[in-house]
Amino acid sequence: MKGYAMLKIGESGWIEKERPKCGPMDAICRPLALAICTSDVHTLWEGAIGERHNMILGHEGCAEVVEVGELVKDFKPGDRVLVPAITPDWNSLEAQAGFSMHSGGMLAGWKFSNFKDGVFSEYFHVNDADGNLALLPSSINTVDACMLSDMVPTGFHGAELADVQYGDSVLVIGIGPVGLMSVAGAALRGASRIIGVGTRKVCRDAAKFYGATEFIGYREGPIDKQVLDMTGGKGVDKIIIAGGTVDTFAEAVKCLKPGGRIGNVNYLGEGESIAIPRVEWGVGMGHKLINGGLMPGGRLRMEKLGSLVAAGKLDLAPLSSHVFNGFDHIEEALFLMRDKPEDLIKPVVKIED
Ligand code: NDP
Ligand code: ZN
Repeated sequence: MKGYAMLKIGESGWIEKERPKCGPMDAICRPLALAICTSDVHTLWEGAIGERHNMILGHEGCAEVVEVGELVKDFKPGDRVLVPAITPDWNSLEAQAGFSMHSGGMLAGWKFSNFKDGVFSEYFHVNDADGNLALLPSSINTVDACMLSDMVPTGFHGAELADVQYGDSVLVIGIGPVGLMSVAGAALRGASRIIGVGTRKVCRDAAKFYGATEFIGYREGPIDKQVLDMTGGKGVDKIIIAGGTVDTFAEAVKCLKPGGRIGNVNYLGEGESIAIPRVEWGVGMGHKLINGGLMPGGRLRMEKLGSLVAAGKLDLAPLSSHVFNGFDHIEEALFLMRDKPEDLIKPVVKIED
């Protein structure tokens, strides 16, 4: 089979590989649509997960099942499915403890294009099919379905980590596709005021659509100063971080109310440590919680998020700014994600409707 792979850090290309084998609890799928993630860029060009040779990239897509193992109960060849980016082993102790994304070790629930070949391939392997796949509702098109792999669950997890409650004022730092879904998640959880941080017009327009009420630019001075100015010096109840650097945490702590929470889903690629400002952290006693996490995977979550879209409560169309037709466009879409033109939110490669 043909797949688009990381040959080594900084180099990618098409390769031929054996079709993966299906274990008793697994499924083999063929993609119907695929999406490129900022994490693919981090993996390939920044060596975020270390060196990999001839590893097929990609962890976002929806698919048709072509084969299932003899112990798989709920899926069969021909089923159209949502495929989460994170595919934990559901019988692991970590999953039993409530942290499925760390099944088998920290962050090890992330298997596609990390510990095994990813989804940018004619066929790909899904472990624990009954635990991880979900049927694709017929009313969701294949392009939107790709957003349910990672953007929706990750962005929404930011809102969960920050514990957004009815009426909260929420700052969302970073309004790329992940941050946009944090805005949507915060709005669905009842936030009153949602301040988005980001400069690109296309993202601001989409953020407004999803419920952002105001914006600030991180290039126009420290975020905390701008937020304190906008809130009469009080700060916000909750903060979701979906963009920025290790230094963003200090800005966040400075404009978070005592008792507030920061939910981080941003990948930190540089810097040795995160500095917490002593005084603004209440000299150690401010009840300002910092919570960072990888998105949870799993069928239950996929089914619930899918029903939210199918019920018309979450419109994913604004996320797919660039749609390519045909599997062969993966390289073009990936390079577009690396170059991030001003009008890009998310590139998607559609293979079938
Ligand atoms: P994008 O690059 O599309 O968006 C980043 C956003 O952050 C943009 O709005 C950008 O603004 C803003 N930004 C950039 N620099 C700063 C800064 N210094 N301070 C504040 N805001 C800044 O990324 P994605 O939305 O695709 O992904 C966001 C992050 O989430 C990535 O790090 C990705 O790896 C990570 N991720 C995490 C997952 C998880 O499970 N935890 C899963 C998937 C992704 P501008 O408008 O100027 O571009
Ligand atoms: Zn992703």
